[in-house]
Amino acid sequence: MNQARTACFSIDVEDWFQVENLRGAIRRDQWDSCQLRVEANTERMLAMMAERGVTATMFILGWVADRCPSLVRRIAAAGHEIASHGYGHELVYRLTPEQFREDVRRTRHILQDMTGHAVHGYRAPNFSITDWAIDILQEEGYTYDSSSFPVVAHDRYGRLTGVNAGQCVSEIRPGFREVSVSCLNLGSRGVPWGGGAYFRLIPYWIFSRGVRHIQSGGQPYVFYIHPWEIDPDQPRVRGVKPTLALRHYINLSQGERRMKRLLADFRWQSIGQLLAS
Ligand SMILES: [Zn+2]
Repeated sequence: MNQARTACFSIDVEDWFQVENLRGAIRRDQWDSCQLRVEANTERMLAMMAERGVTATMFILGWVADRCPSLVRRIAAAGHEIASHGYGHELVYRLTPEQFREDVRRTRHILQDMTGHAVHGYRAPNFSITDWAIDILQEEGYTYDSSSFPVVAHDRYGRLTGVNAGQCVSEIRPGFREVSVSCLNLGSRGVPWGGGAYFRLIPYWIFSRGVRHIQSGGQPYVFYIHPWEIDPDQPRVRGVKPTLALRHYINLSQGERRMKRLLADFRWQSIGQLLAS
């Protein structure tokens, strides 16, 4: 496939109450009492992708896999790439290396046992990747990470050495690659253009033009979305800082329509397929 026209679709399979922006209001020990909506929302996404014949990379949270094993098996049966989002959605740089190793090992085993497919890819919660974590991922059998936004300053995003800001795929260790989520260069500033609140906020025609611009630079485009982003009916959490609530709730009613357009307007593949090509 022509690399310049390549676009990778990825979904971080987690539920609405596990999101970092809402952490101040929902404690980890409350998760089991929250309404589980990830299964139905992911099913809707699977149907949308099936309609367009799209294969994606699904970064599945181990906690979700434990509660929705049949969903994980349906994702695998639909031909999507099974990848790891870690177990407990803790920011990587808040874990000790030992805790991180346990988190990514446990998740990889769960996903592999459920699906019979080898798990190669990892995405850190909130893109909180850091250098020491890469060595552990490689020791635990992962062969790529997709957690970096190389040109963006953000309060919570991590940093990796060896990632070239102008390049989507960088070999950051022998045999281990980093696949950066896409940014758009606007002047001297990089703007995250791979999904999230930006995808729901920016008018679609501008967003899709940005995608084409990134592709025209000869780099693959990497997009991510979460199942809760197409769910305007999710419970509203109180007691969250207004800026964080805005990031989470803005334009949720647009999510499904925009995802459908994006699926229709580009030729998508999984990150695993990109790396194999
Ligand atoms: Zn996440």
